[in-house]
Amino acid sequence: MNTIIKQGTASVWAGEGEANVRGAVTTPIVNSVAFAYTDLDEWHRVATGKSEGFIYSRNTNPTVTLLEEKIRVLEGAEAATAFSSGMAAISNTLFTFLTAGKRVVSLKDTYGGTSKIFLDFLPLYNVSVKLCDTGNHEQIESEVAKGCDLLYLETPTNPTLKIVDIKRLAAAAKNAGAIVVVDNTFATPINQNPLQLGADLVIHSATKFLCGHSDAMGGLLVGKKELVQRVFQFREINGASLQADPAYMIARGMKTLELRIERQNASALAIARYLKAHAKVKDVYYPGLETHPGHAIAKSQMSGFGGMMSFALDGGYDLVEKFLPTLKLVHLAASLGSVSTLAGPPRTTSHVELTEAQRSLLGIPESLIRYSVGIENVEDLLGDLDQALKTL
Ligand code: PLP
Repeated sequence: MNTIIKQGTASVWAGEGEANVRGAVTTPIVNSVAFAYTDLDEWHRVATGKSEGFIYSRNTNPTVTLLEEKIRVLEGAEAATAFSSGMAAISNTLFTFLTAGKRVVSLKDTYGGTSKIFLDFLPLYNVSVKLCDTGNHEQIESEVAKGCDLLYLETPTNPTLKIVDIKRLAAAAKNAGAIVVVDNTFATPINQNPLQLGADLVIHSATKFLCGHSDAMGGLLVGKKELVQRVFQFREINGASLQADPAYMIARGMKTLELRIERQNASALAIARYLKAHAKVKDVYYPGLETHPGHAIAKSQMSGFGGMMSFALDGGYDLVEKFLPTLKLVHLAASLGSVSTLAGPPRTTSHVELTEAQRSLLGIPESLIRYSVGIENVEDLLGDLDQALKTL
């Protein structure tokens, strides 16, 4: 795969070939739990890591390996490993490196599940956790300087699309000897490559844009070989492995990743501009807008601004209740990153467990709607939003 340079080509070809049987031109789904050997010596060599091969699918599997190769090439990483969900990738990574007595620094705005690990679980294992105000780079730098084993970042964040400067914060973490982990789910490797900005490890919920069709769950971790290997060793024993079927679905989705993301980038920008100019919309949160507080940083570290945005209606939650059911071209659902547009209020989805006051502290108004732009024709999406806004 050395001849592949562009991501659109790598999405299609990386990992393909070796496992394809009898000239098949598609990714094989190898639904085998175990792999048989006729040569006992070869079996032993594979089992002891002296030869390449497969033994048992909780550890490695040909379809999963193929998917790992795709994300490895797309993120420009040394190694990759896959998990049964995005949360499995996140929790395995955190629990591999954060043993008793260690300190993690992160952001208040990480994905709800990640936040729960920081607040409810890691402290039970005597890990010290400091969550900083997401846009406050000085605070993050000063907390990192106080002592930090792992800096965990997410950018853009959910649901208000805040941006943090990966290069700047990775440099601070390096000075403190900390590992830098970035959740790149919202941006995708097409729009942002954190390893090139100084991160050591990158995580994806492959359930979202990578799969792209809302029909399979998975998680991926890429980065430095030695670090990925340590998380792999933890994962193969605790068993949060990805199965061949969803690995196939995600690898299939990834073949069209660049096409979808280019479309979603362009549509999201057009929709954000339209909403920004609309009298019934109070605020639009999209890093591609020049008025977004993180726009300059986003422009420096992203090649496109992504398909995720949120916007606040000019009023309270009663407006959301009126507006959302009048939209015709969306699924009102919790997930994101699909071919079809998805929308929902953070009050019911990502931040359902917080009170109104807690949401307000995070800058999440009750009238906020998270909108994940699909690949539909943008004129139709604009028309749909327009007719729904007219009903308010
Ligand atoms: N990271 C981000 C940014 C997410 O939005 C999500 C899920 O919404 C996750 C991680 C968790 O992924 P999964 O649902 O695949 O476990």
